[in-house]
Parts: sequence; structure tokens; C-alpha cells
Amino acid sequence: MTSLAARLPSILVANRGEIALRVFRTARRLGMRCIAVYSDADADAPFVRFADEAHRIGPAPARESYLRGDAILDVAKATGAACIHPGYGFLSENADFAEACQAAGIIFVGPPASAIRAMGLKDAAKALAEQARVPVVPGYHGARQEPDFLESEAARIGYPVLIKAVAGGGGKGMKRVDAAADFADALESAQREARNAFGDPRVLVEKYVLAPRHVEIQVFGDSHGNVVHLFERDCSLQRRHQKVIEEAPAPGMSPEVRAAMGRAAVEAAKAVGYVGAGTVEFIADGRDGLRADRFYFMEMNTRLQVEHPVTETITGLDLVELQLRVAAGEALPFAQEDLTITGHAVEARLYAEDPEQGFLPSTGKLWALSLPEAEGIRVDAGVEEGGAVTPFYDPMIAKIIARGDTRLEALDRLAAALGETLVAGPKTNARFLKKLCEAEGFRNGPFDTGFIERHAEALGAAAQPLDRAAVAAGAMMLLDEQARNLPRSGPAHDPWAVNDGFALSPQPAVPVAVTADGEPLLLRVRHDAAGTAVELGDVAPNAERDLTLVMADEGVIVLSDGRQTWVRLVDPLAVDPDAGDGTAGSQIKAPMHGKLIALFVKPGDRVEKGQRLAIVEAMKMEHVLTAPRDGVVIDAAGEPGMQVAQGARLISIGDAA
Ligand code: ADP
Ligand code: ADP
Ligand code: MG
Repeated sequence: MTSLAARLPSILVANRGEIALRVFRTARRLGMRCIAVYSDADADAPFVRFADEAHRIGPAPARESYLRGDAILDVAKATGAACIHPGYGFLSENADFAEACQAAGIIFVGPPASAIRAMGLKDAAKALAEQARVPVVPGYHGARQEPDFLESEAARIGYPVLIKAVAGGGGKGMKRVDAAADFADALESAQREARNAFGDPRVLVEKYVLAPRHVEIQVFGDSHGNVVHLFERDCSLQRRHQKVIEEAPAPGMSPEVRAAMGRAAVEAAKAVGYVGAGTVEFIADGRDGLRADRFYFMEMNTRLQVEHPVTETITGLDLVELQLRVAAGEALPFAQEDLTITGHAVEARLYAEDPEQGFLPSTGKLWALSLPEAEGIRVDAGVEEGGAVTPFYDPMIAKIIARGDTRLEALDRLAAALGETLVAGPKTNARFLKKLCEAEGFRNGPFDTGFIERHAEALGAAAQPLDRAAVAAGAMMLLDEQARNLPRSGPAHDPWAVNDGFALSPQPAVPVAVTADGEPLLLRVRHDAAGTAVELGDVAPNAERDLTLVMADEGVIVLSDGRQTWVRLVDPLAVDPDAGDGTAGSQIKAPMHGKLIALFVKPGDRVEKGQRLAIVEAMKMEHVLTAPRDGVVIDAAGEPGMQVAQGARLISIGDAA
């Protein structure tokens, strides 16, 4: 057999992050040359370094980089790429791009453009599934869009109903309506969302399935007419119609229902001449468990799915390798009856988001990152310590996949792995995910797509009080640090100064101002023969807790049981961190007469808000000057050792080009 690399000597991945790395790993193992494309935001990303060569395609926003099919194709042509893997998201379900690749003589690692197109819109896909005798959710998916008409259809279907954008994806443009009185408003908002997100306001209306379980089937086709399925994944743990945890096999799945669902998925794939990896998503009415007559086609995703590692884990297959072999024209190396399920797999999506603040995305530098390593644990990550989660793309940090002989063993391993996951900087959902894996109702009960919403509070997805012990510990560390770096004869507000002269009597507590997660607080610091104690309200000084402290710019990040608290000492002399947010640029001035000790930046450097720029020593204290905002250094005057006058302009920061 000729090697795959002889036919596909090189691959360009038109994507970023964990999926780019994941595709490259397989490609490299198979002996292919790996070509990366990247935006300015990813110039130092791990996938760029991993590749054999990497080419810039544009600025950070996806529309100007990863969605620029033309720029990506130019790189592919210039580098002689044999094929392009689109990953997921971005251009992966863009039929025009798939066509443009083929026209340029470059293999698109995905289905034919015609199959992408056929499944691209939810209404057409449903019509197609019906024709292929695949059960679809009852509803209206015709062309008419008048509000009155759609409302009468909703009444006919029977509430609750779900309004969906026909061009939808990512849960956008989707509204559940429980009563006729709410229909008109919901329709308007769904259409608005759909127009904004997809440039297409059209919707369909379908029955909202009760006790819904999301069960999808992984299918695979080759160019010789073979289509098989690689069993199911249960993705019922969702938030806002988006997957949070995925697993296989589906709890309570019988061989009969699996065979029926698998058959339906293969029929749907065959109906569009499918080639490569795809997923047929079904919604099941789970009121009486999974039944062969209670599942309905929702849509087909014509690409590799985020959660494909779950299937790889239970089948022992490498889906990317299969994609590449099929793309090169090989026949699938197995028939349906050759495939078996071994054990159980569960995947959790680790996101940079804050469950305590409505899951708001949380960006910024990863001051510390430690991902779990253990038996039965696979981690697919795209970032590393010192890197950053930027606001430009999906804030996924990693996927953590656990394998077990049984479902509970896999869940236990995943919970333990999430407990060992340490992220300092952006807030994450690690603790929330761990609680999900431990939740009794998910482990043993029947559950559906409403589980997370019903148990949000118990899962910690609600505002929590400030962790005062963490604040006290963080403040102690910062004061310690300051004491080590500062001359002993500091000014009176230095709490360590009171140690000078060896006090015999107990010292009074000294107030110290800090911010904890941005909230200003006053601590009391006591220092005597027994040591130092920080008091904050009724929190016992030096409370014994399992804390991890990570130094970050201007402060410390205190991690405790998966929560993080950012503590900073308030320096009354530092520049106001919010003062320079205007577009005109920001000037960093010497806070007082003194000596420039260090200058960390030069003109042209990119800086992030909070980054250290310079140190000025004055009154025998060092003052760290930090960037008031993100930007580029326009000028940075002076040399270490020189005297600076109060108010002298030292550095100015402007907008990035
Ligand atoms: P799945 O069903 O496998 O989770 P989704 O349809 O939710 O797939 O999309 C896969 C991932 O790609 C998601 O994390 C989503 O945020 C991301 N994504 C989808 N479209 C885009 C896009 N146009 N730009 C950037 N990221 C995208
Ligand atoms: P997207 O393109 O955003 O992935 P889907 O049609 O796949 O849109 O639906 C997303 C999620 O919404 C599903 O995973 C499911 O949980 C829920 N959902 C979709 N259709 C229905 C329905 N008819 N009844 C109940 N829940 C549904
Ligand atoms: Mg979907």
C-alpha cells in the first residue's frame, strides 16, 4: 500500500487553537508537512510553533483572517499544500470555500460542496430528511414568514414550540415559546438575532420536544459509496442550547434504538452523497427513556465536531486520520459490523468564562495553567501558560476527555481531573464542570437538556460572596513581597516600617488598602513577635486553607477550590489604571521626583493593560508604572539611572495599528 503521505504530502489547517494542533498531530504522525495560517492574535500560539511553516493571514478579527477564504487559498497555493482541513467553525461549513479549494486543485478535507449546501439550512435539511424517511420534529419549515401565519402554525403544532433560525448555528436565533401570548415578541427577537448573526432572518417553527435529550450519530462516508456510523454521543448537558459535556455511549441506549438511530443517520448521509466525517443530530423525547419511535432529526453538521474525541475514545479510531484517508480516495478500512464500543468516554469543555457572573467570557493572560495528566485522561488544548485568551475567538481553553470501563468510572476520573486543573488569570468553568460530574441527578438520574438550568445554583453558577480568607492570604503575600523588595525605612504607610526599632509592646493594627477582584477593601495588618497577621472583618487571621497563590502584574491571584480572587495592593501614587482609556493615547508620567530604575519597554512594543512598563524609585520606594490599557508603545524616554521630575512624561501608549 502506498503511504498516505505520498498522496497527501502536506496539509494546511484553516483554523486555530486546539483543533489546529489536534489535526497537525495526526498529520505529522502520518508524515505530512504541516502548514499553519494565523492572525495577529495568534502569532505566538502553540499551533503556529508546532507547524513546519506558518503564514500570517491578517489581523485578529475572524472576518479579517480565519474567515478570509481567499487569503487562505493564496497561502495554500504558494506553499503547495496538497489539502486543506477546515477544523470546525470558521470556514468548515462554507460550501463556496470547499468549491474554491477544489477549483484550485487542492483537496478540501470534508464532504462535497453539494452535501454542505444541502444540509446548510435547517429547513431544507429537514425536508431532505423527510424525503429519506428519517423522522423529523413536527413543525413548519416552509417558505412563508408572515408573523400571523407562523403564529397560526405554532397553534397548530401545539405549545411549547421552538423558533429556530434556518441559517442558525451555535444556539443563536433560537427561542422557546410556551404560550401564544409570547409568540409575536419571541418571533421578532429570533428574527433580529438571526439577521444579525447570519444575515438571514428566516425561521422555522417546531414542536419543543419534552424532556429533550440531544443524541447525535457520528457518520463516516467514503468516495466509494460506503457510509457507516460510529455510534452515538449524548450531548444533553447544555446551556443556552450549547453543549457543555458530551459522552458516549448514551446512558440508557439499547442496541435496538442505537441501530434505529444509526440507520436513520446513515440514510440522511446517503441522501446527500456524504463523504468524510459528519454528525447527524437528533432530539429525543426522553420521558420514557430512549425509544426507537421517539427521536427526530434536527440537523446535520457537515464537519468534524468539537466532541469527536469522545467517539475516538470508545472506538479506538483516529477520526482525523480517517478523514485524510477518505480525502485521499481510500475506502473506509472497516464495515459497520467491524465496529465496537469499548468502555465509556466523557468530555468537558473547559471555557474561559465566569459561571458566577452569568458565564461571561473572561479573557486575559494565563498567569498559570496546569492541565491534568492522569490515567484515562486526554487533554486537547490550544493554549499554554504565559499565553492569553483573547476576546477575538471562542474562549475554549481545552477539552478534557476521560475514559472508564464504566460511566461512573469515567465521570469520577473527569471530576478528579477537573479538580487538578489550575488556571490563573481568566476565570473558568472548571469548578462548575466538576460539580456537574459529581451531581447525583446527572450520575444516576434521568436527565435532559434542562438539567443545568434547573440546578444552576447548586452547581455554583450564581454570584458567590467574596472569598475573604483568600483576600487575606493574598494581601499577606503581597506585603511580604513588598517587604523583601523595599528598603526598611519606608514611609509610614508601609506596614513593615513599624518593625523598625524592635517594638517590645504589641503594635497597633495598620490599615492597608487593597482591591479584591476590583472591589476596594481595607485590611488590618498586625505585626508582632508572633509574626504577621492580616485581618479582614471576621475572617480569622492566617486561616488554614488549601490555597494556591500565583503572582501576576500588580497583584496576586489566589486560587482556592477552583475559585480565584485577584488581590492588589492599592498604591496611592500609581497612575489611575482607568485614566488612559481614551482613544487619543495614554501618557505615563513619573509620579514624583525620583530615579528611573528600570524601563521594560521600547517604542513599537505591544503592551497589555496592567503590564509593567517601568520602575521609578522615589522616597526610597519603588513604584511600578503599569500600562493603563492595551496598545503599542509610541515612545519611551530615558535610561535607567536618570533622575526624573514629578509629572515628567516617560512613556506614551497609542492604539495598535
Ligand atoms: P459543535 O456542535 O461541535 O459544538 P458548533 O456549531 O457549536 O459545534 O461550533 C463549533 C465551535 O466553533 C464552537 O465552539 C463555536 O464557538 C465555534 N465557531 C463556530 N462558528 C464560528 C465562527 N464563524 N468563528 C469562530 N468560531 C466559530
Ligand atoms: P444549532 O445549529 O444551534 O446547533 P440545533 O438545531 O442543533 O441548532 O439545536 C441546538 C439545541 O437546541 C439542541 O442541541 C437541543 O438541545 C435544542 N433543541 C433543538 N431543537 C429542539 C426541539 N425541537 N425541542 C427541544 N429542544 C431542541
Ligand atoms: Mg446543532
